[in-house]
Amino acid sequence: TRTNAALMARRRAALPAGLGQTHEVFAERAEGAEVWDVEGRRYIDFAGGIAVLNTGHRHPKIVEAVKAQLDKLHHTCFQVLAYEPYVELAERLIAKTPGDFAKKAFFLSTGAEAVENAVKIARAATGRQGVIAFGGGFHGRTLLGMALTGKVAPYKAGFGPFPAEVYHAEYPNALHGVTVEDALRSLQRLFKYDIEPQRVAAIILEPVQGEGGFYVAPFEFARALRRLCDEHGIVFIADEVQTGAGRTGTWLACEQWGVAPDMVTMAKSMAGGFPISAVIGRAELMDKVPPGGLGGTYAGHPLACAAALAVLDVFEEERLLERSRAIGERLRAGLTAMMARHAEIRDVRGLGAMVAVELFEGGDLSRPAAELTRRLCAEALQRGLVLLSCGLHGNVIRILVPLTASDALLDEGLAIMEAALAAAKS
Ligand code: PMP
Repeated sequence: TRTNAALMARRRAALPAGLGQTHEVFAERAEGAEVWDVEGRRYIDFAGGIAVLNTGHRHPKIVEAVKAQLDKLHHTCFQVLAYEPYVELAERLIAKTPGDFAKKAFFLSTGAEAVENAVKIARAATGRQGVIAFGGGFHGRTLLGMALTGKVAPYKAGFGPFPAEVYHAEYPNALHGVTVEDALRSLQRLFKYDIEPQRVAAIILEPVQGEGGFYVAPFEFARALRRLCDEHGIVFIADEVQTGAGRTGTWLACEQWGVAPDMVTMAKSMAGGFPISAVIGRAELMDKVPPGGLGGTYAGHPLACAAALAVLDVFEEERLLERSRAIGERLRAGLTAMMARHAEIRDVRGLGAMVAVELFEGGDLSRPAAELTRRLCAEALQRGLVLLSCGLHGNVIRILVPLTASDALLDEGLAIMEAALAAAKS
């Protein structure tokens, strides 16, 4: 029989343990912000396939666009025979990316590949080797992605050696006592102890750390990095794989900085669930790699390009950026009220609809409540809500609900979350 338990048993027998799974559920179908499992149980989806479903499950416009593309062609390899949707997508993403300079864009399939390619270009363009990332950051599971990632377990442990010339500075974190000045000082320490700025190709920053715990980089920090990069000729890369495509209330989070990065990486929600990622950046840098140095067999797949173009249309037609801000406000209000009733919640934070709470034993900031967070996710699932945790200590609940979700669904989800928290505590 097709029960979750029976399928989990088959999964365990056939798949390696390293492939984690938050919830022991097999999904059967999904619509908007709801999913049904193989046993017919319904769930509200606050995870969005990890930040992929800003336009929701099976948005009719996206499904229609993909079907139409499927009826024309579905693979040529762009470097062999080109197709227009790829170019149109590049043009439209360039137009939406901040920076008063000429830009170019190209596509890969995953976030990790976008990050790898941004670094490749920064190195080729500057003739330098060093890359600086931040503690707690996440940039992917490829070798360079792991090297850039600032969290050892479970992402890096046992997988070395990693590519050389990658360094980590401190990410500002007000809740845990790392000020913007502390973070900037940690960069100066790298320049003193490890690598001269003249040898640094790129600094890569998540505008809001995703896997790391939904910590928002203060805009003044981004502006200080911009100045530092200008001073030393370093390429400033914003990794917007998780923040991009409207999650933070603007199309890209870096639009809110007041300064532009030289390069942006995107993936996840940019195509509403189809595998494509992007590097968008300063034309003079992007053109420094000779023909053949960039690309990939499936990179910029026609179906994913069609989906991504439909995502752009849906954002405009349904005013999803406004909705992202409104959802953010509604979630914050609900979670702030919840915090007043539960001492374990010590922080409600985020940018736009990228919202999280952080949990501590008895509200004590020195005791991250990872086990409580795990139980809360499990109790929520029992009650029909898919929640995701994150954070360096696994004690953060992050919300990545589709921006197409109704207020009623958001409220239903928040109520389940509170009931689950109460159950998890008892
Ligand atoms: N960068 C960031 C900021 C991410 O959040 C992720 C995925 N969680 C990645 C890169 C890697 O993306 P992918 O899993 O598509 O390779």
